[in-house]
Amino acid sequence: MHYDVIVIGGGHAGCEAARASAALGAKTALATHSFDTVGVMSCNPAIGGLGKGHLVREIDALDGLMARVADRSGIQFRMLNRKKGPAVRGPRTQSDRKLYREAMQAEIRAVEGLSVLEGEVVDLSQDSSGAINGIKLADGTHVSCGAVILTTGTFLRGLIHIGDKRFPAGRMGEKASTLLADRLTKLNVPLGRLKTGTPPRLDGRTIDWKILDLQSADEELVPFSSMTDEIRVPQIDCGITRTTQKTHDLIRENLNRSAMYSGNISGTGPRYCPSVEDKIVKFGDRDGHQIFLEPEGLDDHTVYPNGISTSLPEDVQWAMMKTIPGLENAQILQPGYAIEYDHVDPKALDQSLNLVGTPGLYLAGQINGTTGYEEAGAQGLVAGINAAHFVGQKAPVHFSRTSSYIGVMIDDLTSRGVSEPYRMFTSRAEYRLSLRVDNADMRLSPLAVEIGLASSERAAHFEDVKTRLDDARVALKGKTLTPQEAGKHDIALNMDGVRRSGYDLLSYATIELPDLLRVWPELEQFDGGTLDRLAIEAHYAVYMDRQKADIESVRRDENLLIPAGIEFNNIAGLSNELRNKLNDRQPKSIAEAQRIEGMTPAGIALIIAQIRKQQ
Ligand code: FAD
Repeated sequence: MHYDVIVIGGGHAGCEAARASAALGAKTALATHSFDTVGVMSCNPAIGGLGKGHLVREIDALDGLMARVADRSGIQFRMLNRKKGPAVRGPRTQSDRKLYREAMQAEIRAVEGLSVLEGEVVDLSQDSSGAINGIKLADGTHVSCGAVILTTGTFLRGLIHIGDKRFPAGRMGEKASTLLADRLTKLNVPLGRLKTGTPPRLDGRTIDWKILDLQSADEELVPFSSMTDEIRVPQIDCGITRTTQKTHDLIRENLNRSAMYSGNISGTGPRYCPSVEDKIVKFGDRDGHQIFLEPEGLDDHTVYPNGISTSLPEDVQWAMMKTIPGLENAQILQPGYAIEYDHVDPKALDQSLNLVGTPGLYLAGQINGTTGYEEAGAQGLVAGINAAHFVGQKAPVHFSRTSSYIGVMIDDLTSRGVSEPYRMFTSRAEYRLSLRVDNADMRLSPLAVEIGLASSERAAHFEDVKTRLDDARVALKGKTLTPQEAGKHDIALNMDGVRRSGYDLLSYATIELPDLLRVWPELEQFDGGTLDRLAIEAHYAVYMDRQKADIESVRRDENLLIPAGIEFNNIAGLSNELRNKLNDRQPKSIAEAQRIEGMTPAGIALIIAQIRKQQ
């Protein structure tokens, strides 16, 4: 048996990686413990959110799976930050866990050129040059390949903690990957230890819903995928409650029994997804912490209490429920737990997610120190593209931080590494006014079409959307008004005599589409979605012009490549510290070198001079 690319792990990174690799024509296998767990959501049954929603839209623009699977399983669509500017809005949905898994499995089955190998991968094989050339399954089968993508999530030496109980597992009920972790140790891959946690799952029939505040889905449901015309899944409410002073007292009394606070866990946890113990220790003076009670499915009684992830012993978790309004009689179906696992220092990867020095080995997802389905899926796509390009002897594809959140994440990971699980936020993107959820397709679909990643349906759909936008933009720019003329239509402008186009007028906060439709009713020939997108684009156009010079300068630096084999030790004037860091990191571009901690403008100038000398 031989495959061009083998993806290890059928989680969120693995599914995207496998689909991308197969779509690019590489004969691909997805090797995973069990097909039944493909698309399992290990923790929160929800997709998207602030920053994360941007990643989902970008995955969709590259014809990935997550957005359309979320659209087919979403049971509470909400646009977060709706009152703030469009650049920082975050589409989110709660998902029906079962529907999500089924939709993902159906997508994977439908990918042409993709096989599934069920079983535990226990080893990797290399040729005499060190390049990866195969995997070994637990039953002893060797399968050869041109490249491997490792997406093993929390499974590498996974160790679950519930109070003082601890046992090896990849997640609850699933076996940890120990032999594969041993192989990575032998390959001298730099490993670290991180941890994450999950709340207990509750039986919704034992919650007193009538005393709780409820939160509903938006009235207008905005899909994640530009290919979805309508959300057809019924929408549900979730409940809201709070921890109380009694909860806080109970947690304080039992802190020494929490796995995280008893010193049993060495890994660092996600600061932005704290456990309930963390919340009480750090912000215990608050009168309560909010808990969203999220039903896990339309025909499932399980409820996910979002906000109380914990590693306290089971008896304390039961006692804790009694202190929370609405949960006094709640039955716990599965206790909350913390899990510690090995991750790879992502500084050991280049921007194609290849492990530097090991040709053919790519890594994506939680294994790279991130947390979250969206972060995992986005990396899976990048690794899938680049592994397929590697076997096809094509140049790697680089995602710039100037044009995508995917680029921001890959660059942050590979140049800065992680000290805690990495999660996406809009604040991580310096060009966030141009990296919006509404324009993800315009930013990334041309690349997907160019490299053959987009299906023919996607390519045709994108072309159609783009043509409609271009036509409407030309029409809006071709229609003009003076302030005097605008006044006749009740549009107030400064009486400066300047003639402005419809497009320019849309950039004013006080002027909305209906105002323009009053002036030029013929604009109604364009559909509402297209005009809404242009209104957002026009609103940001003035900021875009200001950012343009910055973005171009970053792109110039990204394109100024550092030739392989450059001797940093021979660059006179560089400090030993910088030489060591450069030798360690082996940056491939000036932009990468700039992001090395402690790098100075003088150091960059010396490197550029050396490159020019060698040209
Ligand atoms: P996973 O989804 O973990 O998938 C890994 C896949 O690899 C699985 O299919 C597994 O079967 C397979 N696999 C592993 N080893 C092998 C092997 N040797 N051979 C074959 N197959 C293998 N995210 C958040 O954003 N917020 C949270 O609060 C949060 N809490 C979490 C709590 C817990 C307890 C867990 C387990 C996860 C939590 N997550 C949280 C993380 C989220 O689940 C992950 O970020 C996401 O699932 C990572 O996707 P992935 O594809 O990298 O790995």
